[in-house]
This record gives sequence, structure tokens and C-alpha cells, in this order.
Amino acid sequence: MTGTVTNWAGNITYAAKEVHRPHSLDALRSLVAAGPRVRVLGSGHSFNEVADPGPEGVLLSLDALPPGIDVDTTARTVRVSGGVRYAELARRVHARGLALANMASLPHISVAGSVATGTHGSGVGNAPLAAAVREVELITADGTTVSVARGEERFGGAVTSLGALGVVTALTLDLEPAFEVEQHVFTELPLTGLDFEAVMAVAYSVSLFTDWREPGFRQVWVKRRTDRPMPGFPWAAPARRALHPVPGMPAVNCTQQFGVPGPWHERLPHFRAEFTPSSGAELQSEYLMPRSRAVDALHALDAIRTVLAPVVQTCEVRTVAADAQWLSPAYGRDSVAVHFTWVPDTAAVLPVVRRVEEALDAFDARPHWGKVFALPGAVVRERFPRLADFRRLTRELDPAGTFRNAFLRGVLDD
Ligand SMILES: Cc1cc2nc3c(=O)[nH]c(=O)nc-3n(C[C@H](O)[C@H](O)[C@H](O)COP(=O)(O)OP(=O)(O)OC[C@H]3O[C@@H](n4cnc5c(N)ncnc54)[C@H](O)[C@@H]3O)c2cc1C
Repeated sequence: MTGTVTNWAGNITYAAKEVHRPHSLDALRSLVAAGPRVRVLGSGHSFNEVADPGPEGVLLSLDALPPGIDVDTTARTVRVSGGVRYAELARRVHARGLALANMASLPHISVAGSVATGTHGSGVGNAPLAAAVREVELITADGTTVSVARGEERFGGAVTSLGALGVVTALTLDLEPAFEVEQHVFTELPLTGLDFEAVMAVAYSVSLFTDWREPGFRQVWVKRRTDRPMPGFPWAAPARRALHPVPGMPAVNCTQQFGVPGPWHERLPHFRAEFTPSSGAELQSEYLMPRSRAVDALHALDAIRTVLAPVVQTCEVRTVAADAQWLSPAYGRDSVAVHFTWVPDTAAVLPVVRRVEEALDAFDARPHWGKVFALPGAVVRERFPRLADFRRLTRELDPAGTFRNAFLRGVLDD
């Protein structure tokens, strides 16, 4: 492949000397073994250099490999190949009467890339998407295939792995019986007196949105499984028209609201699968903190509201249940995730990202690996308590550093 390759947002141009789209696993294996520096590009929805192999390296896209989605209805699992995206996976799984436990806001992202960065949806009982993975198959630097299954000691580093261990060629995921979800949107929830635990636990998945122009939250999106009760929502009024999370944007590409029941995969994401944005006029950042500190963290952000408002398109607050992936921002702690959709202007956004990081410093905020952050590597290393175990695993599976890039050196190396 020739020409420059950028990420979805267009803020990163990958510096790779070559970009390849192998058509077979054998061709992929040869490209990996040829090294010396290799990275895989998923659907390119990350906002930083995590996927960039650097000027000496090779970038591999898996989207020309034969796509595989093999559903096992008896075991309630699905085996997906490395380039598959959630939109297609969800459609196929649902057609067999099954479901994934949760999805991110956008269904167009690749499964392998999402679980590699700790991508999550919302819900006090919903861990990151990586928690559904029961087995991962990788082509490692010498071209051999390695499988790591749940229950093995090194599984803790094998899924949320930032692409550092090898090329993920397949993942096996847990499924459950298909379920229906109703989406209700409410407006104007005050921050003052917010009963965060009660609001976020009212239904299966709850998100709060604000643009920080005024105190409190402009919107609350409540996704209720129809097979579970919802005790009502006394804290805010129902929206009178369909809304987009960015105030003023048309809601036409958002998933159905007003409590109309529908399949899980047409309600859990905020955006419809049939509208595929090929690029995005935005940057994103996100930080995960202990859920028990949520209200204090939100007040700390409210205190810099006038700094945030000029560059925020929308800010989303979600909950994420603890998981056991060593590099997961939700590792070992039930979390609140505060996400920022910024204007697409790196120079204006970066100083504000630093202000957010200062404001959240007291809350042990862990950055989302796929989004913009400015925390120094030493601080990142302190905040991921199993990072040293992960570093050991990279030395075991990738001793020559074939999959190591500048981004990984920055966060992993002392
Ligand atoms: C509009 C939008 C909405 C988003 N919504 C959410 C959200 O709701 N929740 C959330 O948590 N995040 C969200 N994100 C962030 C996004 O989920 C992550 O950036 C995720 O990594 C994207 O997956 P990708 O395949 O595009 O990753 P890429 O950017 O392509 O890659 C990410 C990492 O995965 C590695 N990788 C990808 N595929 C493989 C493979 N087969 N083998 C080995 N390594 C691989 C890459 O090398 C890289 O290190 C959103 C992003 C956008 C643009």
C-alpha cells in the first residue's frame, strides 16, 4: 500500500516506512518475521501514536485477511478474526439469538483494537469489553502462533496488551442470550446534591453528558434491559426530542431513544451502525478513577469549567466495573470514567488536557490508552500496579522488541 495513512481523527499520520495488507496468514507471518519493527493497525480509532511503528517500521492492516466470525451456540462463544469490527460481529451474533454483554459508544471499531486499549461502555456491573475475551491467538515476532486462555497466569497481560505482544489473529468471546434494551434520555441533572451511585445504578448502562458551559449535566442516557426493572428516574425530566450527545448536533445518526425497545446492539452504542463516519472532527481524552471518588472528581472538574468549556464538544461520565487485565484502566477497581470529546485542534486542546490531569491528580486517574493524554511515563507507571508484570510478559513473548514503538517505550521503560 502506498501513500500516507492517518488515524480516523486525522490528528496522527503514521510514520511507517511501509504499510501492508496481507491476504493470508502465511503472508502475515512472513511480514512479521521480516521485522525489524512491526505494528498492527485496527480500525484506526485511537487518537495517539499507540499504533505507529515509527519511521523504520512496518504497519500491518488485517482488513484484507478472510474475515472469520464463528458462533458456537452451544458453548455460547464466538471466535472472531483479528480485523473484525463490532458492528458486523454484533449483527451476526444477534442473528444466532445471542449477545455481547456490552458495547462502546461507536460500533465501527475493531474488536482486537478495542480490547487492546481497554475500551469500555458503561454500567456499574459492566467491565471493559476485554472481560468478554476467553482466549487470544497471536502471531509472535518469530512467526509462531501462541494461544493464551483465561485461567493461565499470563492471560492477565494478553488481552489489553496495546499490540505489544504480537499480531492478534483471533479472539474467542463469551456470549449470552440476546436481550432487548430501551433507551431513555433525560435533561438537566444538577451536580449539586448528585446521588451518583443511585443515578448510575438505575439501569444496565447510564451515561451523563455535559459541555461544562453551565454547572451540572445537560443529558442523561439510560439504557434499560427490558428483562430487568427500572425504578423510575426522579432526578431529571425526560427529553422532549431526540438528542445527540454534542448539543446542537442532529440526532439522526444516534440510536433510537424514547424508550422504544430494540435489540441490544441497536441500543447499547450511542451511534447507529448504518451511519459510518469515515473520519471525525474531534479529539478525545478519558481518565478512569475509583468510583467511590466520582463526586469529588466531578467537582474538581467543575472548578475548571471555564477552562474546559471553550474546547469541549461534550464530556461523558460512565461507570466501568473492575476487571483483571493488568493494563486495564479499570484494573482491580470499580471505576468512574470521565471522557472528553474535544474540538479538533491539538494546540488548543493539549494545555487543557494538562489542566484536567492536574485537576484529577488527587484521584489516581488512569488514562485511556487510545486517547490523548500528557501524563509523564513515570506517573503512568505508578498508576498501573501490574505494569512491571506486563513488561516481563513483553520480554518473554517479544524479546527483540519487534512490536515495541516509541509510545510503548514512553510508558513501559523506566
Ligand atoms: C468515535 C469514537 C468513539 C469511541 N468510543 C469509545 C468508547 O465508547 N469507549 C472507549 O473506551 N473507547 C472509545 N473509543 C476509543 C477506541 O475504542 C479505541 O481507541 C480503540 O483502540 C479503537 O480500536 P481500533 O481498532 O480503531 O484501534 P487502533 O487505533 O487501530 O489500534 C489500537 C491499538 O490496538 C492495536 N491493535 C489493533 N488491532 C490489533 C491486532 N489485530 N493485533 C495486535 N494489535 C492490534 C494497535 O497496534 C494499537 O496499539 C472511541 C473512539 C472513537 C474514534
